[in-house]
Amino acid sequence: MKVRILGCSGTLAKGCRTTSFLLGERILVDAGTGVGELTLEEMQRVDHVFLTHSHLDHIAALPLLLDAVGAHRARPLQVHALPATLDALRAHVFNGVIWPDFTRIPTPQAPFVRLLPLGVGDVFVVAGTPLEVLPARHSVPGCTAATPKARNPPSGAA
Ligand SMILES: [Zn+2]
Repeated sequence: MKVRILGCSGTLAKGCRTTSFLLGERILVDAGTGVGELTLEEMQRVDHVFLTHSHLDHIAALPLLLDAVGAHRARPLQVHALPATLDALRAHVFNGVIWPDFTRIPTPQAPFVRLLPLGVGDVFVVAGTPLEVLPARHSVPGCTAATPKARNPPSGAA
């Protein structure tokens, strides 16, 4: 699988974007300002966003991504994160003050985004890619993801 590093900085400057990785064409891990490296067409192909935690350098572009592609998508974008991260998004971003509540817009039945909880230890396949949710230590609840193969290399591997 091709992994494209769109940004990996903790702050912003010319040529310096915050954390976001594109796995294949349909999965983003984190939605920092690195998302701005994608064309509109590339953004439209993303179906899943995994958020490692709620800090701004990892979520800054999510509201703008939804604004750019929400009306052009046939299905809601699926955002996967720990419950604490999803709660932070609902309370502090998609609250109708900082940004529209795209979990209910344009309609509650067919919103631009669905927020889906995950838990450490979950293993699942999205867009044909197996992923395992791993714990992470940080100042807020967080997690990271790896492909099961990457976590358990074959015996005899160097
Ligand atoms: Zn952080």
